[in-house]
Formats: sequence, structure tokens, C-alpha cells
Amino acid sequence: MNALIDNDPEDSRRREFRQQIDAAKARLPLPHLMELLDDGDHAHTSACCPFHFDEHPSFSVFETADGHWRWNCFAGCGSGDEIDYLLLREELTKAEAIAEYLRLADEFGEDKEP
Ligand SMILES: [Zn+2]
Repeated sequence: MNALIDNDPEDSRRREFRQQIDAAKARLPLPHLMELLDDGDHAHTSACCPFHFDEHPSFSVFETADGHWRWNCFAGCGSGDEIDYLLLREELTKAEAIAEYLRLADEFGEDKEP
């Protein structure tokens, strides 16, 4: 995506933050994050939900056409990305989840050097 040329420092900080999160997602995609949290058993397109008592698989982890990972619980636990997963799993605020995710990606992420 081509960012518009913009000299607003607030916007540029937000853009930098967004890029930081995108880079973290490239290094620590959702299935890898879930493995790190000992939730690897749930990291499938059809799995039991890690967030509620689930006798029949109502949970799904999948990659979107644009290469982002998402999770979804059809029984109502919600859906989201890596940060939302961490938020729900560890009962964090959004800000805490982002900080923790960036830390995990930094520590455990794979290098995406060509
Ligand atoms: Zn659920």
C-alpha cells in the first residue's frame, strides 16, 4: 500500500506504529503465536475453541487472501488477529496485548530475510 505523503507528525507516528505491527505479524504469524502459548492444538481450520467448553469444533484459524492470519469462533467467542487472540487468551487490554505481542515477536519471531 502506498502511504500518502503527509507531514503531520501524529499521522507519521501512527503509520510507524502500524508498520511495526505489520512487521511483527510477518515474524510471528498466528499459528506460531498459538504454538508459543501452548495452543498449537487449536491452530487449525477446524478445531475446538480454546476460549469456551467446546465439544464440537467451532474454532477456525485461517490465512486471508492478502496473507493475514485470522481466528474465528462460530459459537460467539469472537474473531480477530494475533493481537485479539492474545488479548482474549491472556485477558489483557488492547494496549497491553499490542505491547506483549510486539515483545513476543521480537523475542520469538522468525527473521524474514530473503
Ligand atoms: Zn469459542
